[in-house]
Amino acid sequence: MILRIFAHGMAMKDDKLYTPARVALTAYLKGKKMRRTPERYAILEKIFSTDAHFHVDDLHRKLEAEGYHVSLSTVYATIQLFVEAGLVRRHQFGNQPAQYERVPQGVNESHHHLVCNVCGRVRAVKDPTLIELIGNLRYPTFKTDFFSLYVYGICSRCQKKLKKEKESKAATSTAKKKKTQNH
Ligand SMILES: [Zn+2]
Ligand SMILES: [Zn+2]
Repeated sequence: MILRIFAHGMAMKDDKLYTPARVALTAYLKGKKMRRTPERYAILEKIFSTDAHFHVDDLHRKLEAEGYHVSLSTVYATIQLFVEAGLVRRHQFGNQPAQYERVPQGVNESHHHLVCNVCGRVRAVKDPTLIELIGNLRYPTFKTDFFSLYVYGICSRCQKKLKKEKESKAATSTAKKKKTQNH
């Protein structure tokens, strides 16, 4: 079975996803008796405008570029809050710095990740069969919320690069051999 790989980060202005997230955040903050600051909603909206994985400092930079001034530590604290509220998921691919992505509320956007061991690029794959399979698994005395799956390997770009490097190495060594033979 060959599955379609899709690039994370397609621009998706998605009010359909933002609205339920906003509602969930409001309920969470009310429940925790925390302030409903405009910063929290602005950061949430920014996160929900794309399905891309992101680093916290990149998100901070983007907010700054759009004229939204919040300190980096506020962004970090807010992301932490969103993780606890189940609005954002934290990923750690290999030994890369942590990345985050939005968690759509009430919709199944499950996907797994292909991580390149050479360049670190992460691609996403949606596999309905796998989602159904894992969704149907029942563990006694354990209640499943979600699953996370990382597949490590070498991406197409790096495969091409490695092949080229191999070929050029082979070419130089045969050229060297010819040279020595001519002498
Ligand atoms: Zn790669
Ligand atoms: Zn993802």
